[in-house]
Amino acid sequence: MKTRLLTPGPTPLPEEVRLTLAMDMVHHRKEGFTALLGEIQQGLKWLFGTEQPVIPLTCSGTGAMTAAVGNLFKPGEQVLVIEGGKFGERWGEIAGTHGLDCAVMTVPWGKAVTVEHVETALKNYPDAKGILIQASETSTGVLHPIKELAAFTRERDLMLVVDGISAVGISPCPMDEWGIDCLLTGSQKGLMLPPGLAFIALSERAWKRVEEIKPRNFYFNLLGERAKIMVNNQTNFTPAINLLMGLSTCLDLFQERTMEEVFRTQWALTQMARAGAKALGLELLAKDHYTWGLTSIRLPAGVDGAVLLKACAERYGVVMAGGQGHLKGRIVRMGHMGHVDFADVMAGLYALAQGLKLTGGHSGSRDYLERAMEAFETSLADGPPADLC
Ligand SMILES: *Cc1c(COP(=O)(O)O)cnc(C)c1O
Repeated sequence: MKTRLLTPGPTPLPEEVRLTLAMDMVHHRKEGFTALLGEIQQGLKWLFGTEQPVIPLTCSGTGAMTAAVGNLFKPGEQVLVIEGGKFGERWGEIAGTHGLDCAVMTVPWGKAVTVEHVETALKNYPDAKGILIQASETSTGVLHPIKELAAFTRERDLMLVVDGISAVGISPCPMDEWGIDCLLTGSQKGLMLPPGLAFIALSERAWKRVEEIKPRNFYFNLLGERAKIMVNNQTNFTPAINLLMGLSTCLDLFQERTMEEVFRTQWALTQMARAGAKALGLELLAKDHYTWGLTSIRLPAGVDGAVLLKACAERYGVVMAGGQGHLKGRIVRMGHMGHVDFADVMAGLYALAQGLKLTGGHSGSRDYLERAMEAFETSLADGPPADLC
């Protein structure tokens, strides 16, 4: 049986990428590789929508979150953390470890924050130097309004730090156009690579802040990394060479397809998963503001999520994720980011329906696959709504 990885990271790999990853080592200070890093830099800037350098880091996504906090803020400074899920919580943990004065604004899991709420919260925290938020909160499937928030923060002396780990390459998040101060992502979600690389870019004013603060990190030292990449097309330490070669292949694939096309497909897959789940009689966790790379689906009362997920994997080869924190066992998170197509989502919906039958929760219509495909076709033709782009 074929295994289908429908998890919100890691995601499946295109064959071209797997073949690149299988190549022999090259040396990271020699000309061939530095030329490749130069090309990758252009590709990453294009992907992030920025004129600023995009720094590759050898670590998982959380490493880039740590780098952001450690380089942009001094211990004792205040930040506002938007916490609407597991990864929002992580911002708070990282900021706390770094000795920041952390003001946490909780948002009900499944809901997006609003600019008005942030504005009100900031009245109590006039000294806040930045806002730490997810573009897409992967634990709930919520898409936060980054464009609107950036329009708000760019007028103020307030850094907008965006964890785009399940957004970059999945839904629009053009850094310079929107006015984001720090955008970061990891390799194993939308970018169709194995885990092990992260990327971080800062706005002009964010770089000024880093220059003033002069952070003392040895490893995640963004000033040092910027100098090295801009002058020599190198990284300060040995990077994950084969992952960077794989990234070059991924960027080629993105450029051939165009981001417009990638976003259109991600949008259509999302509509497909949502329509299918609804036709199965299921409720969606993120109702209005949902991400384009995963769909979080509530399970009917009495259905054991762990049993259902195990059945999907063992009987149909479909690997999906469950809930985290208080949502453990209560939701299914179907990933459809990266190298995933309509046939994968169809397999996901079918496995889910069968899993529900086994666990006593199936109550929806029999034509859920047709409805899902209809939603896919219509959304592919119409494209995503302009206000989200
Ligand atoms: C996956 C994910 C992370 C964690 O990334 P790691 O690579 O596991 O460190 C953080 N934030 C978001 C939004 C994610 O989706």
